[in-house]
Amino acid sequence: MGGGVSGLTLALLLALNGRKILLLEKGRHIGGSLTRFYKEGVPFDTGFHFTGGFSPGGILVDMLHVLGVADRIKPIFLSGPGSGVFVFDQDQAVYDMPSGTENFRTTLHKYFPDESVAIDEYFTRVKKVWQATVSLELRNIALSAKPIEEDFISLEQVLDSLTTNYKLKGLLSIFCLCYGTNPKEVSFANHARVAGGLYDSVARIEHGGEALIRAFRDCFVKVNIEVLCNTTIAECSDVKDDRVGNFVLDNGDKVSANDCTFTIHPQEILKILPRQHLKKAFVERVSSFETSNGFFSVFGVVENADPLTFGPSITSLLPSYDLNVLLDPLYDGPGALAVIRSVERNGDKTHCVINAFEPEFYARVKQWADSSVGNRPLAYSEYKARKVKEIKERICNLYPQCRQDLKILDAASVLTFRDYLFSPEGNAYGIKQKIGQFNLFGRQSLSNIYVAGQSAILPGLVGAMLSSFIIARSLVGKEKYTSFIEQRLCN
Ligand SMILES: Cc1cc2nc3c(=O)[nH]c(=O)nc-3n(C[C@H](O)[C@H](O)[C@H](O)COP(=O)(O)OP(=O)(O)OC[C@H]3O[C@@H](n4cnc5c(N)ncnc54)[C@H](O)[C@@H]3O)c2cc1C
Repeated sequence: MGGGVSGLTLALLLALNGRKILLLEKGRHIGGSLTRFYKEGVPFDTGFHFTGGFSPGGILVDMLHVLGVADRIKPIFLSGPGSGVFVFDQDQAVYDMPSGTENFRTTLHKYFPDESVAIDEYFTRVKKVWQATVSLELRNIALSAKPIEEDFISLEQVLDSLTTNYKLKGLLSIFCLCYGTNPKEVSFANHARVAGGLYDSVARIEHGGEALIRAFRDCFVKVNIEVLCNTTIAECSDVKDDRVGNFVLDNGDKVSANDCTFTIHPQEILKILPRQHLKKAFVERVSSFETSNGFFSVFGVVENADPLTFGPSITSLLPSYDLNVLLDPLYDGPGALAVIRSVERNGDKTHCVINAFEPEFYARVKQWADSSVGNRPLAYSEYKARKVKEIKERICNLYPQCRQDLKILDAASVLTFRDYLFSPEGNAYGIKQKIGQFNLFGRQSLSNIYVAGQSAILPGLVGAMLSSFIIARSLVGKEKYTSFIEQRLCN
């Protein structure tokens, strides 16, 4: 259930292992956050811009290979000067950080010559987490992976133990924006699992998430996966011997299934599972999960720009070195702003695209929560127009040469994301993954109900897909899974 990258990955893995699959998607089409949209013929990404995992031997390369879609997906690496820049408004400091863990580390040495011990110790600990995390190795993944020491210590605690330099701490916490949990609340281990991949390499994908959706769709046809869009489960019925007997769809049809895996937000799962069969502690735990931030996004195009020199690049504008502040729902100063430049093709046309996004919290737009797309009140439109103006000004200050030619074609608030992607509160990363939290993952409450998805182990493309590999191993069985992986990786 759920046709985002988690659901697509699991459906294909299980079908490749001989299972009969029905994929249910509430939206009009599959893809979830991978979906692109077009304005005036220009393609824009909604919820997937860049990823780690593409360097040789990288986890994403392996996953795509196993799924049989690797040859359809072309990474575009962000490397070279200017492709990964962090600008801190506080002191106008600019850090141009290269790709590759070793390059990143040695560049930090240059910016912070007195902090070499702290920097090296930080990267040693990131490496330790990677080596100790079995789920980052496809052959060895397991549902019951043992936690490590770094799962119980926050990013902030580790950084405080290494240095008092707030600028260095700020730079080392930047990737909090890529998983939505602040340094106080995220475990060092989870931080290292995401950040480690991004230090290694950052890449976009040619044609964005659409390339992935197309590749999955073609494979689905070959392995007879049935997809039902505009459809969800309304109710779990005929529960007997700890199993759901039938899943009643919202079109009234009844479906029986050996197993059902949910890849949607945990609080949405709670609405569907049969309450009378759930333990109170389970309900309380799931209800207590906090939803992660979303983004206010601005989508623009720079006319008359030269595609050969335009991108790709990511420049992050940071009003503070303290990521706890920038990810605080109550903070109402200018937000952290990621500005992504990329060259996109649509048919024979080439476009120089700018996509800028700033963390946004549901509380800011909650007063308009009852409205829907095409039916928003004037006050909301004014809020959106104000934000677009502010963000456009920041982009123009960053790239003064684009001021005349930057045309904003669209914008989206967390309400937009909520309504298009069916994501509670328009979240970007599912639930906030806090230190010591026991996420919803694997078999849950009833013997034929499973949970995967971005809220299970790690958010982002890689974390979402990994959760599905782990569930596939559970459903297919360790031996069959292992030989399947070996065989696919050797091909
Ligand atoms: C603005 C934004 C920017 C992001 N940028 C990046 C990035 O650059 N790199 C990166 O790696 N990650 C990024 N992410 C996060 C990334 O998109 C997600 O981690 C990942 O795509 C989640 O995949 P998923 O399949 O778990 O969930 P989703 O993509 O949310 O898919 C869930 C699917 O389930 C469907 N659904 C929901 N409820 C129901 C229901 N009741 N019944 C049936 N179907 C239902 C939805 O319609 C959706 O299709 C970003 C997210 C956002 C929002």
